[in-house]
Amino acid sequence: MSENQTRQWKDADARHHLHPFTDHKALQEEGGSRIITRAEGIYLWDSDGNRLLDGMAGLWCVNVGYGREELARVAHDQMCELPFYNNFFKSTHPPAVALSEKLAAITPAGLNRVFFTNSGSEANDTVLRMVRRYWALQGQPDKQVVISRKNAYHGSTVASASLGGMKPIHEQGGLPIPGIVHIDQPYWYGEGGDSDPADFGRQRAALLEEKILELGVDKVAAFIAEPVQGAGGVIIPPDSYWPAVKAICEKYGILLVVDEVICGFGRTGEWFGSQYYDLKPDLMPIAKGLSSGYLPIGGVMVSDKVADVLVAKGGEFYHGFTYSGHPVAAAVALANIAIMERENIVAQVRDTTAPYLAEQWATLAAHPIVGEARTLGMLGALEIVSDKTRRTRFGEAGDTGTLCRDICFKNGLVMRAVGDTMIISPPLVISCEQIDELVGLARTCLDQTAQALGL
Ligand SMILES: *Cc1c(COP(=O)(O)O)cnc(C)c1O
Repeated sequence: MSENQTRQWKDADARHHLHPFTDHKALQEEGGSRIITRAEGIYLWDSDGNRLLDGMAGLWCVNVGYGREELARVAHDQMCELPFYNNFFKSTHPPAVALSEKLAAITPAGLNRVFFTNSGSEANDTVLRMVRRYWALQGQPDKQVVISRKNAYHGSTVASASLGGMKPIHEQGGLPIPGIVHIDQPYWYGEGGDSDPADFGRQRAALLEEKILELGVDKVAAFIAEPVQGAGGVIIPPDSYWPAVKAICEKYGILLVVDEVICGFGRTGEWFGSQYYDLKPDLMPIAKGLSSGYLPIGGVMVSDKVADVLVAKGGEFYHGFTYSGHPVAAAVALANIAIMERENIVAQVRDTTAPYLAEQWATLAAHPIVGEARTLGMLGALEIVSDKTRRTRFGEAGDTGTLCRDICFKNGLVMRAVGDTMIISPPLVISCEQIDELVGLARTCLDQTAQALGL
């Protein structure tokens, strides 16, 4: 691609395209967007011909890697056969039927029905509607409040952003909407200080019980959380956290909503994060890895406990999207799951590549500016600090993360920054040799970041 072509794209993009999660002024000042033109396996190429190792699997989603022609063929064939029909008003089509049957088979026991959406955000909007509908049908319409966590990410629509716990998001647009409250997160490195991680995990779980009692059990509908917080900075809770949370939900009969939009479809080395942590979700939002990002599709897995009430009590649930269970997206998702099964991708992550990543990634903890290096499955994080014992950050929060991220791009590595935490979530098909390359690049970038900081 010529320099001229790149310039034309950047100019047209700057004139006409408002990007998601972007400071539009800063983007223009910095000379416009990076233009990604093609991809294969775990690599991307930009319009200047530079190759990048995609340490983020697109946006946590391209689990089977890029360049799967099989998925393109399935989409082509489905478009020729039936490009669209809706699932409203007592209709359906074979791809939606087949995908719902498959999802019931591979998700944890007790989740046997799916409500389709086009994204994780829509899945979480559906969650809010569905838990309130469930309690209303149970004769407890006052059970409306959903408890979530600070620094959670559940999407960007009005309801899902409200369920999320990100302050900068809430500050734009008067969120959260009523009936959603947030408790502190189980972020030991950032907030645990000198405490023992197990004690800290139990303390943060106990906040759920306190909040339920403060609000009154008769007001609380559900608790929602990601098994491992993704966008919040790959926050892996202490092992004591989930068993305690699970017990509290059971004790008070609060619905447990496990947001598997990132953790689902092999990311943790199990099919679902719920299996990794032995959770029994009442509702389980999914998206991202469901289609490996080849087409937009999401959904909510609904437990028998909830679905049986919706079915038995009847009455229309006034909710749905034109493209809920879109036939082409459903066909591609089904083929994506077939690839994961055929190539044994989840077992490969659990038994081989995740343990290897854990071992190699841990070596980065010795780097002078790394305070902690952690992984779970194919998720990883590095805490960048100026003082390892005090866990102090360099200068303004986030500046060093941004600096490191830009250095990564220059060196051919996509690694994301959340504040001063660097995170990865590579395609699940990454090999051990490619993990060596990823960790080697990350080390070079940390060296260059330290240099740029004058160390
Ligand atoms: C990305 C994400 C969402 C939102 O999904 P979209 O498809 O972007 O709407 C919801 N929950 C979690 C945990 C996510 O990571």
